[in-house]
Amino acid sequence: MKAIYMRAPKDLKFEEVPEPVLHDDEVLIKVMAVGVCGSDIPRMLVFGAHVSPIIPGHEFAGKIIEVGKNVEGWKVGDKASAAPLLPCGKCEWCQKGIYSLCEDYMYYGSRNDGAYAQYLAVKADNLLRLDADTPYAWGATIDPAANAVHAYLRANATGDDTVCVYGLGAIGLFAVQYAKVLGCKTIIASDIDDAKLEVAKQCGATHVINSLNDDPVEKVLEFTGGKGVSFAVDMSGVPSAQHQAILSTGKMGRVVFLGISHKGLELSEKAVDQIERYQLSVIGSWNSFSNPFPGFEWTESARLMNEKLFNPDLLISHRHPLEDLPDVFKKIDSRELRGYNKIMFYPNGFDEEK
Ligand SMILES: [Zn+2]
Ligand SMILES: [Zn+2]
Repeated sequence: MKAIYMRAPKDLKFEEVPEPVLHDDEVLIKVMAVGVCGSDIPRMLVFGAHVSPIIPGHEFAGKIIEVGKNVEGWKVGDKASAAPLLPCGKCEWCQKGIYSLCEDYMYYGSRNDGAYAQYLAVKADNLLRLDADTPYAWGATIDPAANAVHAYLRANATGDDTVCVYGLGAIGLFAVQYAKVLGCKTIIASDIDDAKLEVAKQCGATHVINSLNDDPVEKVLEFTGGKGVSFAVDMSGVPSAQHQAILSTGKMGRVVFLGISHKGLELSEKAVDQIERYQLSVIGSWNSFSNPFPGFEWTESARLMNEKLFNPDLLISHRHPLEDLPDVFKKIDSRELRGYNKIMFYPNGFDEEK
């Protein structure tokens, strides 16, 4: 089969590799769509993966073409996506059902071969069912959607919340869509990119803020009658946005940090004061898994795709055959390609994409 092989960061080649060997507890998936995760960019251009060489890619969907002999409930021809984590099941956190914190996990596309390939053998426990009329590319975006839902679960957020989302990559835009699904009446989105703010409006944002032009804290207070939101989530990992998320949250509110920053964060006196006086909860969110595995984040995101309550087409900005991947990553690296959102690759042609 054809796949993208990575031997070192930036060393990405589209080449002929052996087909995966199917184990009894796995199904063989013909990968029909696979998306670029934000984490793939540093993984494939800067740091490399945990093992090398490897086939990266972990946000995918496809058609089952073979079923291992111990697998029940799936048949050839079924459409599926899959959660990429293979938790150990034995560590303290797996025992507690908090699989995001597993201490000895495997992962399709970073520790095991992944989905930038025509075929991938996947454990049946990880599968999520797609309806016949759900596009494969939609199934391939269940991963970022599940990460957004996880942030809501971390904060026990509901339709009664007023929400502000900082940072409108794929996870941020799904966070906006999920607020709409939940029935939130005030949904504010902040970013520095007007095009993404436009998409956020289509995703359900009732108010948008370009933080290059306006102070998001002032704007959020204006949009909420001076109260601030009850739930703010930072998807950007940018310290200024993390700071704004705290300052724009009202009494008893929850602030979730999801965007990876690799940077320090200096809080102003006002922000520290506000955390204390407003009894804010500042909460971390990591990945997307819960009990029963892979978790409500995944089953709910798959349901919302199948019921067409999520619309990933709003955030898929580029569609390419898989062989274009080395060139696309070169252009990401050189910044020739900017302003992209979800980039989708098709390892088995566009024809079957329905
Ligand atoms: Zn991902
Ligand atoms: Zn574990």
